[in-house]
Amino acid sequence: MSKRNVVVVGAGIGGLSAAHWLTRRGYDVEVLEAADRPGGRMQLLERRGDLVDVGAQFFHSSYESALGLIDELGLAGNRRTISAGTQFARPDGSKFVLRHDWDFPCLLGPGGSASLMAFGLRYLVFGKRFPMSQIVRSIPAYDDVSVADIVSRSHPRHLDYVVRPVCFYFGDPSEDRSFNMAVDQTARVPDMAPSGKAIVSAWAAYPRTEELIARADDRLIETALEDMEKLIPGFSGWVEDVALVRHGWGNAVYPPGQYQGVIDFRRKAEALEGISFVGSPYGGVHMEAAILAAKRAVTRVNQGQ
Ligand SMILES: Cc1cc2nc3c(=O)[nH]c(=O)nc-3n(C[C@H](O)[C@H](O)[C@H](O)COP(=O)(O)OP(=O)(O)OC[C@H]3O[C@@H](n4cnc5c(N)ncnc54)[C@H](O)[C@@H]3O)c2cc1C
Repeated sequence: MSKRNVVVVGAGIGGLSAAHWLTRRGYDVEVLEAADRPGGRMQLLERRGDLVDVGAQFFHSSYESALGLIDELGLAGNRRTISAGTQFARPDGSKFVLRHDWDFPCLLGPGGSASLMAFGLRYLVFGKRFPMSQIVRSIPAYDDVSVADIVSRSHPRHLDYVVRPVCFYFGDPSEDRSFNMAVDQTARVPDMAPSGKAIVSAWAAYPRTEELIARADDRLIETALEDMEKLIPGFSGWVEDVALVRHGWGNAVYPPGQYQGVIDFRRKAEALEGISFVGSPYGGVHMEAAILAAKRAVTRVNQGQ
């Protein structure tokens, strides 16, 4: 049987993964890309020797397909483990170097430890779980709950020593702000910023995103700086440089209530012949979702769909 030609539209990680697997299977693949570089939302910027990911900041150990792809491409040697102890600064100015899991209770104290345990227990006992990188069901009860709602009930030490070091700052969900979350990108991978400076990205809050995207760069930056100052007091005084990166073709997160829409779309899309969707929006928001969608598309092509 002669193999068909395949056209892949878009050289994001989804399109590139699909193109890679299809080529390996002997298909004649052409990739069309509208931008002047491949990678889509995965983009690495450099500023005086510091590196910053502006579209793909966390690569989770649960990304089985992505890790498999890395191995398959012979890039496993580039993976590295961050093995050094983590240094925490206490409010009184003293330092605490955390080297083992059992150092945690010391750092958190009784209140913080109880809060962390209660958080884990609530998740295990009452949480309606779903895979992190795949939208498989809609849980309307979760639509009106933000992560900030959940963590705002935590003990301050739980917030200071668990939530923020994982690099998140959350605003008060009841306050109407355009940017209500900040990610300190270098907190977990300090060697990306040899200068020792923090690289913080401001995350826009739905539903303000749609209105924000139409704003001019300088107005957007002004709003982001104002909101970050409320989230991290003193912030505006530390800022040396600001970069604005627009990802005009996709959202990093879904608005509440959209999961059912994604599931319905995917069902309809899989009834189409000769066309498959490979981007992350058809399965979730992460890189892993894009790669899983690519796997599904490759299977469909192989089955002649
Ligand atoms: C700020 C931000 C932070 C993120 N952080 C993380 C993270 O920490 N961890 C994580 O796993 N994921 C993260 N993501 C999501 C992750 O970057 C995306 O899920 C993933 O890169 C999407 O890949 P994709 O192939 O689906 O789409 P994209 O990367 O969007 O690629 C689509 C490509 O198609 C091209 N294209 C579009 N239309 C056309 C057309 N008509 N013709 C030709 N080409 C076209 C575009 O130019 C683009 O290159 C983040 C995203 C953003 C924006």
